[in-house]
Amino acid sequence: MNTLEENLDRVIRNIEKARLSVSGHHIVKLVAVGKYTDIENIKTLYELGQRAFGENQVQQLEIRVKELSELPIEWHMIGTLQKNKINKLIKLNPFLIHSIDSLELALALNKKLQSSNVKLSGLLQINSSQEATKSGVETERAIDIYQAIQAQCKNLNLQGVMSIGANSDDRSEVQRNFKTTYTVFEKLKKNGANICSMGMSGDYELAIQCGSNLVRVGSKIFR
Ligand SMILES: *Cc1c(COP(=O)(O)O)cnc(C)c1O
Repeated sequence: MNTLEENLDRVIRNIEKARLSVSGHHIVKLVAVGKYTDIENIKTLYELGQRAFGENQVQQLEIRVKELSELPIEWHMIGTLQKNKINKLIKLNPFLIHSIDSLELALALNKKLQSSNVKLSGLLQINSSQEATKSGVETERAIDIYQAIQAQCKNLNLQGVMSIGANSDDRSEVQRNFKTTYTVFEKLKKNGANICSMGMSGDYELAIQCGSNLVRVGSKIFR
């Protein structure tokens, strides 16, 4: 068995254990984050059955979407989106953008989507750890901003929320932030939210225990 296969199997088993500890009905999607790896490894993972892949840069996403266009891969844009990359991203027609981190960005995206007459699904990124280095809206403003985007951005389909765990060795702090994000997600269910994207290589099991139903895992698979 090669390492990639072992890594993927291990991550899938861990996700399975964590989700079952929540409920047999708690379904979790794995998005494999390819930013540390090359196209060949993405292909290998595809052949092992993985279908959803994430990239954090539009440039990299573009190269991969084009090179792997013959494969029915579900592409996720997970990194900060610069305004000057909006047109490029829209042309790539990703399955989901996780990183809508302000009303301003949503409005800019919506404007371009409208003029191309296309729709895009996305998540509102919440900065629940309140770290200055992280993007995302403040937790306290998340619900208002979510509803404002829904009201003003008809070509954006908001599907839920995304958050990056605190950069901390203190598990209880990371857990607190995940729980905060999950609480916002629950309140937004009546607005149609159905995706709670939380958890990366260091904290995906904890995130699932806090209610995440989508994890973005890179290094634990590809390194
Ligand atoms: C890189 C990245 C990930 C994956 O990180 P790992 O710790 O390698 O699993 C997840 N989400 C975002 C937004 C990223 O940029």
